[in-house]
Amino acid sequence: MSHAAVAPVLVIHGGAGVIRHDMTPAKEKAIRLAMTEALRRGHAELKAGKSAVDAVTAALVVLEDDPNFNAGKGAVFTHDGKNELDAAIMDGSTLAAGAVAGVRRVRNPILLARAVMEHSPYVMLSGDGAETFAKEQGIALVDPSYFRTEERWQQLQKALKEDAAKRPHVDVETAKHFGTVGAVALDAQGHLAAGTSTGGMNDKRWGRIGDSPVIGAGTYANDGCAVSGTGWGEFYLRTVAAYEICMKVTQMRIPLKRAAAEVINQEIPSMGGNGGAIALDAQGQISIPFNTDGMYRGWIGADGVPHVAIYGDEDDGTAELPEPAPADSTKPL
Ligand code: ASP
Repeated sequence: MSHAAVAPVLVIHGGAGVIRHDMTPAKEKAIRLAMTEALRRGHAELKAGKSAVDAVTAALVVLEDDPNFNAGKGAVFTHDGKNELDAAIMDGSTLAAGAVAGVRRVRNPILLARAVMEHSPYVMLSGDGAETFAKEQGIALVDPSYFRTEERWQQLQKALKEDAAKRPHVDVETAKHFGTVGAVALDAQGHLAAGTSTGGMNDKRWGRIGDSPVIGAGTYANDGCAVSGTGWGEFYLRTVAAYEICMKVTQMRIPLKRAAAEVINQEIPSMGGNGGAIALDAQGQISIPFNTDGMYRGWIGADGVPHVAIYGDEDDGTAELPEPAPADSTKPL
């Protein structure tokens, strides 16, 4: 399917579950700056005529390198005191996808996920094998201590104290520390892409893998819709959340905002889960639903002005966006 030239758009998230009283002015400033920088870098790719996959990759590398997010440096710790990282990327124009799970030495897991998509016959690689592939691809490996931050270490200590015996793999405090990063982009050729990168859940055990690297659950893109989720991954896996949103849009022709809200604000909370998502359609329509106190989120459109918001009661500028007219209503989606 080809699209008329469209104005490129990039939408990012840095995780849901923000608690206002956990925030310091310095941290808030650093997060807003990093989100703005990620939007600028991704948008520069789009402005240069590069692909949605390039924009998603560029934005996510910035957020992975920033210690304030639960991805790359600053990832949460496992129960055993390790950092195990997951990431995925999907090209909506070809349905090509790449993902990595449980890697411990890959500095930028999103780059490895992309290499899996572009240079391997597979979709998902895990653990040591994924790192062997990374080495072959010339992707930067680091000592595992690179990912460590004191804040995440203390979050693990707190979770360990909160009676690991009672609720060993998921506790309510843990659920407050989402911080996964994600991006969805629409390029000038009208193609969409989605990517997500995470350290997963604080205090996770037994090689737990969440939704982020699972195509369809935390990450999905086709030619009409792109989604990256963040939240309590088990619920995103069980609802196949990202795919579910996109199928509502492209198969059932439900408008993006309603489709995303049905999954994020109805289906997931009704099952006891929480979190948010960023979603984008082929007309450049943006939806950023969440059912938590806040979500680090941002977007940048044709005018190149970055919009960043954190709290639930903070205007992220998406409500005022005009509903775009279909490019050509005689063509099927
Ligand atoms: N969804 C991620 C996971 O469950 C966590 C997050 O979004 O922060 O691994």
